[in-house]
Amino acid sequence: MATQCAAPAHFKAELAQTAAAIVAAGKGILAADESTGTIGKRFAAISLDNVEENRRAYRELLFSAGPELKNYIGGVILYEETLFQKDATGKPFADVLREQGIYVGIKTDMGVVVLPGTDGETTTQGLDGMAERCAKYYKAGARFAKWRCVLKIGNGCPTQLAMEENANVLARYAAICQSQGLVPIVEPEILMDGDHDLAKAVQVTEDVIAHVYKALSLHHIFLEGTLLKPNMVCPGQDCKTKYSPAQIGEATATVLRRTVPPAVPGVTFLSGGQSEEEATIHLNEINKFPGPKPWALTFSYGRALQATVIKTWAGKKENVKAAQAALLLRAKANSEAVLESTLVLLPELDLSLCMSRTTSTKSLTVL
Ligand code: 13P
Repeated sequence: MATQCAAPAHFKAELAQTAAAIVAAGKGILAADESTGTIGKRFAAISLDNVEENRRAYRELLFSAGPELKNYIGGVILYEETLFQKDATGKPFADVLREQGIYVGIKTDMGVVVLPGTDGETTTQGLDGMAERCAKYYKAGARFAKWRCVLKIGNGCPTQLAMEENANVLARYAAICQSQGLVPIVEPEILMDGDHDLAKAVQVTEDVIAHVYKALSLHHIFLEGTLLKPNMVCPGQDCKTKYSPAQIGEATATVLRRTVPPAVPGVTFLSGGQSEEEATIHLNEINKFPGPKPWALTFSYGRALQATVIKTWAGKKENVKAAQAALLLRAKANSEAVLESTLVLLPELDLSLCMSRTTSTKSLTVL
């Protein structure tokens, strides 16, 4: 008889506990899972060779930033190479993180491929042999995973094909993760490329996330043991209209409210090319937007946590401390962006304001 659940009974409690712990109050995720090719681009900007020892040294810098790190970071996503690397004392990075109470995550996808017959739309590959890989990652200490799908806006995109295919592959990935005890981070990233306005971004993000949850439901995913990693709802990078951070916060919170079931413990945003400051300010605005928000709303940033860190480090030993301080600073700022609404708003929370349709619709200028 069908179990109606992708998560085996013996993993359910652990999956739910892991997902909730990663996004505990004031905590987010450090996405340090750049593939060898992507980290090579970051290293090229500081004229550093993309060799294994440099990649290892850089990740050691991040993971040993200091005892404060665990206050802001609930999980770190690793690339497979990093999961099996060690710090300078010979301790596996997975243990370096776990000893700080930080959950270890692993990038499981193998990158995107074009969907033939489309305008360059893509799906993401990597399902073959994934259950065996996940079992190996779990054994090495990983407890959550990531899989990134990419969609774009403009010229009729995203097509129905792209939305359905990417939702389906995310659901297949999520089912495999849960079968092996890993919490799947479900990441349908809609790129900021283009000149579309905020209303268009609202419409497309709503459509894409709705497709994702329809597929997760069809595939019997245990939502309590998942996290969503969406883009914030922003206008295209070339959009002529300027929007305030409050409008981005409103658009994002509204889309999530319409599409993400309350059973999901957390939404961990990607930064997607926003500056470090923008990513922090927008995160705070999303959290400050009044009304029901039944999930943790936090960060899972790559570039918006590491841009200054890499620049400060510049591949030099003497800059390690300063680079680590830069990481702690950004992580703390994002942690405060998440907590601020709780700390500032809760004591004076006016429930009638939160529940009032007129209050929220009055400000819905772009939706
Ligand atoms: P950015 O925050 O740099 O967008 O990266 C997050 C991520 O993990 C994308 O998959």
